[in-house]
Amino acid sequence: MLITHTRLATLGDEPRLIEDGALLIKGDCITALGTTAELTASYPAAERWDAAGQLVLPASSCAHTHFYGAFARGMAIPGEPAANFPQILERLWWRLDKALTLEDVRYSALVCLVDAIRHGTTTLIDHHASPNSIGGSLDAIAEAVQEAGLRACLCYEVTDRDGPERAQDGIAENIRFAKSQIPNPKSQIAATFGLHASLTLSDETLADCVSAAEACGLGFHIHAAEDVADQEDSLRKAGKRVIQRLHDAGILGPRTIAAHCVHVDESEIELLAETGTWVTHQPRSNMNNGVGVAPVEAMLRASVNVGLGNDGFSNQMFAEMKAAYLVHKLAQRDPRAMPGDLVMRLAYAENGRLVRVFWPGLRLGELCEGAAADLAFLDYHPTTPLTAGNLPWHLLFGVEASAITATICAGRVLMRDRRLLTLDEEAITARSRELAAQMWERINEQ
Ligand SMILES: [Zn+2]
Repeated sequence: MLITHTRLATLGDEPRLIEDGALLIKGDCITALGTTAELTASYPAAERWDAAGQLVLPASSCAHTHFYGAFARGMAIPGEPAANFPQILERLWWRLDKALTLEDVRYSALVCLVDAIRHGTTTLIDHHASPNSIGGSLDAIAEAVQEAGLRACLCYEVTDRDGPERAQDGIAENIRFAKSQIPNPKSQIAATFGLHASLTLSDETLADCVSAAEACGLGFHIHAAEDVADQEDSLRKAGKRVIQRLHDAGILGPRTIAAHCVHVDESEIELLAETGTWVTHQPRSNMNNGVGVAPVEAMLRASVNVGLGNDGFSNQMFAEMKAAYLVHKLAQRDPRAMPGDLVMRLAYAENGRLVRVFWPGLRLGELCEGAAADLAFLDYHPTTPLTAGNLPWHLLFGVEASAITATICAGRVLMRDRRLLTLDEEAITARSRELAAQMWERINEQ
């Protein structure tokens, strides 16, 4: 397929903005880029899609999310409002996840996948919990992802909070699911090993997880130092800080994601860098939970790998980028903090490197020959000059999510002219409303 008459923003190491650009897709890859005149001359027989001057960007990706939280939207939580992060976990998330059936798991995922397609986000790294529906939960999500035509890396978050039997069930679900997948850049699904957080895991369970994961060559996906409570628990339980505890347990490494790392000190930042561990940054969630602001720039200066996730907030990654751009300036009272090009780097280049941990060889976050044909079309016609150099500030100050009209993942068109082509949004919305209402009732009866 030859996409013509676009403003093509390539991103990558040498970003270009090609006016009246064109791009050729063969299978799941981009095979040529240039101007419309050049490519229509070179490929006269190719099927054409006239983008009518729309801006075409690489699709977004999300480094840390929770599909299972979709039914929380608008849910009233009985009792006093949660006053701190542990109370948010106990009163909201640990009641919600216990109420999930396998059908709820499937529809929570579908709701998030509709949202991802609508917002040009094609690759998501999910972290799942449903303590009363553990077995088969990752298959339910994988099926939904395959129907959507997106890409996702899945895991089940092992925890001791529901007793030893469920901790073992969580381990078994991770291993069973990972064994059913073969790492492959062409596959829509990848697997890793999920852990909830240091504060809900004993040394014994961590050791069980490490031996199970090592046998399958898996890294981990864990919340780390999200709130000061995680550090207090680790110091109390193990006499050391969270990142040191995870390191000593064998959790860190270049295949591991430590989500958040809001409360890490210099020695922990060093450990994250030395081990090549991935940190993910989710500023909307951190603000919502009132947990603090992650020292992202300090981590980057220390050569820590940092990607951008959304922690279950909407899959509009432009919104996450805007939050990242703003919150560090406020927290540091310094308008030079977290410049726009750095936010772009996290969202595209760094997330692009992170996804290669799970899909070896896959090139995301840039448009070039050989890159994945993962694209977002934006009906964005700015009133000021747009260049490759100032694109970050257009995305941060000009572009709204509603501008996205088309999404392509691995060469497959998932949305065109704002119409979803793989998922029946109306049916998903209707069923999800029924299931969410029933789930809310069950939570109120708990
Ligand atoms: Zn999370």
